[in-house]
Amino acid sequence: MLCLAESKKIVMVGIPGVGKTTLVSKIVEILKDHEKSVSVTSFGTLMFEIAKENGVKDRDELRKLPVSKQQELQKMAAEKIASQNEQIVIIDTHAFISSKEGYYPGLPEHVLKIIQPTNFVSVSAKPEEIYNRRMKDDTRNRDKITLSNIKKELDVQSGMISACAVITGSPVKHILNGEGKVDEAVNKIVTTIGL
Ligand code: ATP
Ligand code: MG
Repeated sequence: MLCLAESKKIVMVGIPGVGKTTLVSKIVEILKDHEKSVSVTSFGTLMFEIAKENGVKDRDELRKLPVSKQQELQKMAAEKIASQNEQIVIIDTHAFISSKEGYYPGLPEHVLKIIQPTNFVSVSAKPEEIYNRRMKDDTRNRDKITLSNIKKELDVQSGMISACAVITGSPVKHILNGEGKVDEAVNKIVTTIGL
């Protein structure tokens, strides 16, 4: 009987500025060097592309939409991701989004059921480092940044990602993306994913 290998669906989460996109681009290089077919989707970018068709102009406007509208966009983005069939599908996203109504999950149960992640990677760094990385990046229109907010966000992240593991039964690897230690973090993630 022909048995096609299922693709691995790796969900990478981390609060803004922690370094997800930086890590993902290096991981992809390594996986491609090892002849793996890989796709990378930024969940936020995909949601924004869908939202643009509905008149949203700025990426940072997304999280200001009513939660019900964001949930609809999440579902559509999840369906697109679920249809990808590369050997390794990487999803660059957030465990939660700060909204006017409070923190809401980036990966609610209905989204997890559609994507069916096989692994979660939760990226963190020292709050001071995240603060500095956010301050350096002036391409984004970020909310007010304080150290105590960043600490709170790291706490919320670990709670949200634990819930994802319980819902899906898939493991979570916690990775520290230390200052100047991108390669170290990348190697740990590649080992986790497996080549
Ligand atoms: P967002 O959620 O807003 O997309 P992100 O988690 O994808 O953020 P990046 O854009 O990858 O974060 O990184 C934010 C900034 O931090 C960038 O300027 C990047 O070069 C820098 N950075 C990432 N990792 C490290 C590291 N280990 N040491 C030093 N700087 C880093
Ligand atoms: Mg990013």
